[in-house]
Amino acid sequence: MSPALIIARKRDGHRLSREEIRSFITGLADGSWADYQATALLMAIFLKGMTSEETADLTLEMLASGAKANLSSIPLKKVDKHSTGGVGDKVSLILAPLVAACGVAVPMISGRGLGHTGGTLDKLESIPGFTVGLGLARFEELTAKHGFCMIGQTAEIVPADRKLYSLRDVTATVESIPLICASILSKKFAEDIDALVLDVKFGRGAFMQDIESARQLAEALVAIGRSTGKDVRALLTSMEQPLGCAVGNAVEVAESIETLKGCGPGDLLEVTIALGVEMLLAAGAAENAGAATKKLYRALATGEALEKFRGIIEAQGGDPKVIDAPARLPTAPLQIPYVAVKTAHIASVDPRRIALALLDIGAGRKRAEDSIDPAVGLTHLAKVGQHIRAGETLAVIHARDEAQVTHVRAALDSSFTYSETAVTVPALVLRD
Ligand code: URA
Repeated sequence: MSPALIIARKRDGHRLSREEIRSFITGLADGSWADYQATALLMAIFLKGMTSEETADLTLEMLASGAKANLSSIPLKKVDKHSTGGVGDKVSLILAPLVAACGVAVPMISGRGLGHTGGTLDKLESIPGFTVGLGLARFEELTAKHGFCMIGQTAEIVPADRKLYSLRDVTATVESIPLICASILSKKFAEDIDALVLDVKFGRGAFMQDIESARQLAEALVAIGRSTGKDVRALLTSMEQPLGCAVGNAVEVAESIETLKGCGPGDLLEVTIALGVEMLLAAGAAENAGAATKKLYRALATGEALEKFRGIIEAQGGDPKVIDAPARLPTAPLQIPYVAVKTAHIASVDPRRIALALLDIGAGRKRAEDSIDPAVGLTHLAKVGQHIRAGETLAVIHARDEAQVTHVRAALDSSFTYSETAVTVPALVLRD
């Protein structure tokens, strides 16, 4: 099939057949499609869109471009969660062991942080020795043994996405709902899951900043996922302020451990439980939301979820002693309080400004090849609605040197807004 003809058909607004989509995806690997032809088609898709059926075909063809996990020997339902990314979003670190402790397998293949949002892999790698670079065979083995496993994308999984994403990144074609859906779902379906729960974030710290675009993305992901026969569900959750009270890498691992011990911040727990409920329901591991909630809280209260986390840290080469002694995690030489200059209610905390300042001091990466500093970040971050008094701590800055402290302090100055009167905290989890 001629690439130029396929490009012209999409350019003119036609629906592409499964064979045409297959020719495009296989052509990326065998060289029969040049990069300039692939990017022309990507732009045509960006401009003309794709139907749910075309997007499902694209997802399945991308999935077929690489290897897939085989978890058929595990006699449990396999369910994963995907978040569109946020600031302080360490939910995966708590949710995977928690849901596994409730008898559902969670094969989790995650991404690294890029841009202002953090990545699960970078957080996990801040645990000394922890390796996310396991092959699929070891991933299958550990998921069978521990009920969950958390690794990074391997070269064998959906190579078409790596190629397409690198082309989209430099041709202004990232923000296309069909392309985003196929990219996310093809990678998740390579985990051999029965169901997927999506945390689609909206707000200043999210990829999709307004609720309507987030809802559109959520609906498209659910429709396409379901058309491939999987149980795909989505929650919309707010990213109007950082999630929890820690932003960074090691500091987020420490907060995840606290949450697994039952001492985490309320907003982080609320999002984790809401997603956990959907995962248990999708797996048929609870009859209704009330029963699922109870089951999840029980796994926290009994310490089973925490023990699951300890087990996987050890199995993936990490130091399990961090569970009892979080001081074994990398720590920054400076930990400087940032204090309130007035007595007021906190009206807003800008997650994007905070994340960008932390990115500048090494908590995240600007380019895929950058390395990160696991120790820097923020803790004790005050929350919207909180009443604070002048001199009270609004955050603790974890930094390497005074210049970094000054940089983050300036970002915090412009991230907090205040109100003389009480502030109502908007809903964190939206359900239709
Ligand atoms: N995340 C992905 O994995 N792919 C996209 O296209 C966008 C966000």
